[in-house]
Amino acid sequence: MSYVADRSLDRASAPSPDAMTPRPFVVRERRQDTRDTATYVLEPADGVPLAFSPGQFTMLGAMGVGEVPISISGDPASPLLVHTVRDVGGVTHVLLQARAGDVLEVRGPYGTGWDVEDARGTDVLVVAGGIGLAPLRPALLAVLARREQYRRVALLYGARSPDDRLYPDELDQWRERGIDVECIVDHGTPGWLGRVGLVTTLLAGAGVDPVSALALVCGPEVMIRHVARSLADLGVAPDRVRVSMERNMKCGVGLCGHCQLRELFICTDGPVLPYSVVAPLLAVREV
Ligand SMILES: Cc1cc2nc3c(=O)[nH]c(=O)nc-3n(C[C@H](O)[C@H](O)[C@H](O)COP(=O)(O)OP(=O)(O)OC[C@H]3O[C@@H](n4cnc5c(N)ncnc54)[C@H](O)[C@@H]3O)c2cc1C
Repeated sequence: MSYVADRSLDRASAPSPDAMTPRPFVVRERRQDTRDTATYVLEPADGVPLAFSPGQFTMLGAMGVGEVPISISGDPASPLLVHTVRDVGGVTHVLLQARAGDVLEVRGPYGTGWDVEDARGTDVLVVAGGIGLAPLRPALLAVLARREQYRRVALLYGARSPDDRLYPDELDQWRERGIDVECIVDHGTPGWLGRVGLVTTLLAGAGVDPVSALALVCGPEVMIRHVARSLADLGVAPDRVRVSMERNMKCGVGLCGHCQLRELFICTDGPVLPYSVVAPLLAVREV
C-alpha cells in the first residue's frame, strides 16, 4: 500500500479553494497548562462544528500575524475545537496572548489520523513525550468512549519535569477509567514520588501483547526513533507503530512542498504514518 498521495494537479485532485479559506473561531476558554503552554477551547463563529479524526491538525492563525500547524487536542465527540499550544516562536507567542472573546482563524482539519479503530480487540500502547500528549489526547478520549472494545490500554508519558506534564488532573481520571497511566520525568522536583528517566525505560513493563498491540507515538523526533527501536526489540512490528511527524508547514494542503520529506508531504501523507514508512526516510544518526 502506498502512503504517498497522488499529487497530479488535475481538477479532481487539486485542493478546493475552500481548503485555503480560514474560518473565525471565538476563544471560549483559555487554560494555562504549564509555564509555556496553554489549551484553548474554541467555538466556530458560524456555529458549524469542525469534524475531525484524532491525530489531524489545523492551521491556526492570529489575524495579521501568521498561521501554524497545531494538532487538535479535544474530544472528537465535542462540537468545540480544542488546541494546546506551546510558545516556541513568533506565531505561537502571539497565539498565546489570545484571551476569552478573541477571534482566531482556523483552516482545516488536515492530514491523517491515528485510526485507533485498527486496535479494536487488541492492546493499545500510547507513548507521549512533552507536548506530544496533545495530539494523542483525542485518540485516548476515543478509546475511552468505547473502552470495552479494546484490551489493555497503556499510556506512557515522559515530560521534562512534573510541572511540565499536560493535563495532570485528567491523567488521574484516565487511570480511573481503565487506562494504565505511567509518567516519567527527566528531572524530579521535591515531592515527586514518581519515576525519573527516559520514557523508553517504561516500554518493557507496559504489559501489552507485542504481537498484536497498536502503538501510537508522538514527541520529539529523537524520542520517536528510540521508542520505535525499543518496540521493535520487544517484538512490535514497525507497521503496528504509528508516529506523528513534525515538519515546518506553510499551506497544509500539499501544494507548497515546505514539509516535504523525500517523496512524502507530511501535511497530506501524514502527519500520522506507520514507522515502517517513515524510518527509511529519516537520517538516523543517534545510537
Ligand atoms: C502536524 C503538526 C502538528 C503540530 N501540533 C502542535 C501542537 O499541537 N501544539 C504545539 O504547540 N505545536 C504543534 N506543532 C508545532 C508548531 O507548528 C510549531 O511550534 C510552530 O509552527 C512554531 O511556529 P512559531 O512561528 O511560533 O515559531 P518560529 O518562530 O517559526 O520557530 C521557533 C523555533 O521553532 C522551530 N520550529 C518551527 N516550526 C517547527 C516545527 N513544526 N517543528 C519543529 N520545530 C519547529 C524553529 O526552527 C525555531 O527554532 C505542530 C507541528 C506540526 C507539523
